[in-house]
Amino acid sequence: MMTPETILTYHKIHDTGNFERQVHYLKKTYPDALITVDDGDISFYENAFPLLKDSGLQVILFIITGLIDSEKPFWWDEVYYHLKGDRPDETISKLKSVPNQERLRLLETIRKNSDKPPLTCPQLTSNQLREMHDAGIIIGNHSHTHPMFDQVTEKEMQEELETSRLFFDQLGFGRYDLFAYPNGNFSTKSEKILKKEGIQQAFLFDHQLNRSENPLRISRLSVNDDTPMWKYRLILSGWHSRLLPVIKKVHSAIR
Ligand SMILES: [Zn+2]
Repeated sequence: MMTPETILTYHKIHDTGNFERQVHYLKKTYPDALITVDDGDISFYENAFPLLKDSGLQVILFIITGLIDSEKPFWWDEVYYHLKGDRPDETISKLKSVPNQERLRLLETIRKNSDKPPLTCPQLTSNQLREMHDAGIIIGNHSHTHPMFDQVTEKEMQEELETSRLFFDQLGFGRYDLFAYPNGNFSTKSEKILKKEGIQQAFLFDHQLNRSENPLRISRLSVNDDTPMWKYRLILSGWHSRLLPVIKKVHSAIR
């Protein structure tokens, strides 16, 4: 598929009023922008899909294939749930930066040490995916279990892709070959395997306008459902990406 310069990444969609303003603005000002939504949270189906289905905007929903038709939670939500009030953000950052097997071990320990019952979460169903696909939403691939692709072994990476491919084959629609790196993490090794496993286009999470020539490193801008309009405009113009490093530098100089 053709990728425009302006590609947005969303996650959960809860602030319907503000999201509707954003969609309206996109239709008017960036009709060729591509909206991508990572993780396939059910809030997309409930809150965003009704606003997007007749919008004429191009939308890809990147799903975690292992969660569809299940009540399994996102693993980071589990950390928030079990470690509430105990600096869960720090633990999540750590879990994203360790080898995959260690991440899985640590997650298991967090579950075991918690006195709370296991967390469940209603996930999208195959029927809902079909309904969205029939209405023009592209269903893309966000791996099978959402590990960090710079922290997995070659074998794990292959398994992730092969299992998600099986899921898409069974589904009978959707785009296995359009891939969004979980958390945006990638390496030259992952790029090589993606190519070998038939991925045609891979999307980063780098908060940049898309100017890359490499179809396996497509840049995206990061926005949220509740991003205020003044900031939303700034982000879409590309200026936020340019200013952000400067703002960060000033902040650390003041501190
Ligand atoms: Zn994700």
